[in-house]
Amino acid sequence: MGKLIQGIRGFNDILCEATPVWRFVETTVCEILDSYGYEEIRLPVVEKTALFARAIGEVTDIVEKEMYTFEDRNGESLTLRPEGTAGCVRACIQHGLLHKGQPRVWYGGAMFRYERPQKGRYRQFHQIGAEVFGVPGPDIDAEMILMTGRMLRSLGLLDLQLQINSLGIPASRAEYRERLVSYFRRHHEQLDEEAQRRLHTNPLRILDSKSLAMQPLIAAAPSILEHLDATSQAHIEQITAILDTAGIAYTLNPRLVRGLDYYTRTVFEWTSERLGAQGAVCAGGRYDGLVEQIGGPPTPAIGFAAGIERLVTLTAAAECVPPEPALHAYLVVVGEEAVAPAYRLVERLRDHLPRVRLRVNSGGGSFKSQFKRADRSGARYALIFAAEELATARVSVKDLRERTDQRRLSEAELIELLAECIAG
Ligand code: ATP
Ligand code: MG
Repeated sequence: MGKLIQGIRGFNDILCEATPVWRFVETTVCEILDSYGYEEIRLPVVEKTALFARAIGEVTDIVEKEMYTFEDRNGESLTLRPEGTAGCVRACIQHGLLHKGQPRVWYGGAMFRYERPQKGRYRQFHQIGAEVFGVPGPDIDAEMILMTGRMLRSLGLLDLQLQINSLGIPASRAEYRERLVSYFRRHHEQLDEEAQRRLHTNPLRILDSKSLAMQPLIAAAPSILEHLDATSQAHIEQITAILDTAGIAYTLNPRLVRGLDYYTRTVFEWTSERLGAQGAVCAGGRYDGLVEQIGGPPTPAIGFAAGIERLVTLTAAAECVPPEPALHAYLVVVGEEAVAPAYRLVERLRDHLPRVRLRVNSGGGSFKSQFKRADRSGARYALIFAAEELATARVSVKDLRERTDQRRLSEAELIELLAECIAG
């Protein structure tokens, strides 16, 4: 036997026990996006490296150390997408979508980041995200937060925390950045190595540090919310007014800065205390400068992305996923002469009952061994098709749940029985 070549660390197989929860999460989220008027867009998983470098920012964690970048055979630098917004914006510009009203699009799929794999953090993970273009807010900002809240509730997740912040406009942020740098300079000896490096590259990210030792220093840092420009101040007040009226609880967190450079004004994040260190399940924000920065017309925009793995973990624990319907029937076929007529019968059943879950025994076997498989399959009914049934154009049916006596049914009676079983 050859030695198995294992899968790659941080790249997961999602096995059959898990896929029903995945499907529930994905269909629930998609239905809600539909209901708010978003349309699906499907994007490639590979883009030119320069797109991410320019959109996400050269001095972010993602671009500095998390990207899967490679040269293709022409020597062009390409990258597996670490997030969906850059590619989505690129596609919308390239195909002229931004000239058509105020597009609302959503996308889903695998993202790739070279991070240390651990619970809730993988190298291939999945997101569903959405973007709205051409609306300056704050109404759409609030609606997006309400929509993501509805998604989480629909998955049975009722105890998540919502945090909101405003990063202001570039001018007010630059001013705040200077204040922050001078504050951290004054306490330079308390900064860890990473923070010292970030002081020169991306000082706002220090606020996001997980270092316990630095928490008091961070808590006493100047608050970005106290250094907002007047329009950003009014913007966030209008968002919170809508949330207050809708009865959605939130915390204003001036230390919520997010890992991507492109945000302006609104940022938000939903977190769970049940996930340990990897608590963020859904995050988003406004990025009014990004479209122009990557070659499009000046266009305000806002988006969010939800991490499917983390949603799946929480949803599975909340135990509100409807059970997958079991197999309705398992067809036991005895004798070679019965095989072709059995398939003719089954294809006719499927014509009448497109939603039937029916498995035909394959690979032959004695009546006894086939019946055992039927029993183990979890099917409600075993259907038996052998010489006698073939001769009389009937099918024997055994109810595997009620264990009642076997019956012989005509095709029409069988269709009726299975239709009832499908209807539940
Ligand atoms: P974190 O703080 O956990 O690193 P992030 O700020 O890097 O998250 P985003 O870029 O905002 O994450 O992505 C949105 C969501 O995607 C996150 O809230 C999370 O649920 C999920 N996510 C991000 N990175 C990973 C990963 N490596 N593995 C699994 N899920 C992830
Ligand atoms: Mg991250």
